[in-house]
Amino acid sequence: MDLLSFEQLGFTLTTKQLDANRTRIEIKDKLTEETLIITQNVLDMSEEKKLIDKNRKLLFHSLRKDNEIQEADYTHTLPTKKVRSFNATGGYTLRIFKKQGTSWVWFKEKNVGISATMQCNASLEDAELLRRINNLRRPLISFSHGDQNRSGYHPIQPNSRSKNCQDYPSQGESSMIRDLEGGFNQGLRCMNSLYEQYKNHADARVRAKAAGFRTLMKKLMGNFVPGARLPFTFKCENDVGSWANYFTGEITKKDVYAFAKTCGENGGEKDVPGIVLNTTAFRTLSRHDRKSTLFHELFHHAGYYHDEDSNTYDVVYGLQSCCFGASDAPRSITQIDPSDFSCRRLMSQNHGQSEDGVPNIQD
Ligand SMILES: [Zn+2]
Repeated sequence: MDLLSFEQLGFTLTTKQLDANRTRIEIKDKLTEETLIITQNVLDMSEEKKLIDKNRKLLFHSLRKDNEIQEADYTHTLPTKKVRSFNATGGYTLRIFKKQGTSWVWFKEKNVGISATMQCNASLEDAELLRRINNLRRPLISFSHGDQNRSGYHPIQPNSRSKNCQDYPSQGESSMIRDLEGGFNQGLRCMNSLYEQYKNHADARVRAKAAGFRTLMKKLMGNFVPGARLPFTFKCENDVGSWANYFTGEITKKDVYAFAKTCGENGGEKDVPGIVLNTTAFRTLSRHDRKSTLFHELFHHAGYYHDEDSNTYDVVYGLQSCCFGASDAPRSITQIDPSDFSCRRLMSQNHGQSEDGVPNIQD
């Protein structure tokens, strides 16, 4: 299958050599009329990105230089700025928000430890994302067996590994690899279908949500880029005793099938980023539900967590139910059913928003 070109996908690409060291790349999206301007400097290996709208209003700005990334997002009513710095052993995040005049008001700082080194927050570059999406015959994320090393981890390419998954139903690690590929690819292609289907919607909020799915896909798939510094770990826990040690309080009373270990949440914790699976509980699930659960946990790595308040909309469950449904009945991954209640909710609700009184989107 031939890959679609930038032009066929509605992008105009221009590159310009500014001087001996600097290149300017402009990617204009004819559909959104937004332009991404990337300036790369080979001398200091820095990269600046600016996203502007059709009126040349700045929407997003980032600067990557040395061991630091600065990002500023102007699309919210309270603009936010994030400064992340990294070294060999850990990361540090400074979150600044609300611009007053020309200065930013300091808000919060966090030592995120080794769990937030650059790669676990890395997103896939646009060109690589397009290449994978358009190569429809191959999975977006693929895994394969590797040889066990001394620490008990199996490399399962690319840039991921598993541990203790010999009891995964029904045939150990090879079954897990099949479920991972099936679940991740169904979820990721579903997110891309949501983008395709709603990118030209009459409501600007729905269009923004649709475009946001492409960003989330890049974040999720960025965890599996070959050569990234932190491998993504799938760890299986087989006996209830050790599984219970992961939890304190209320959550031990619930049936927990799996949980996500996400970047920046557990500073210094082992196996971050990763997913821990309760193989004892997984043995009670159908293959469909195993794939659906694996995608749910992957999606936490896009930065969405469950809210304590049960009356608010939860995008993790919303996306899972839109993309996988409740049963084994096959779902189209190229065409979202516009009458599907969970998909309509997903396109009209924000994570953490009150569930009361929000109408579904109009077709
Ligand atoms: Zn969850």
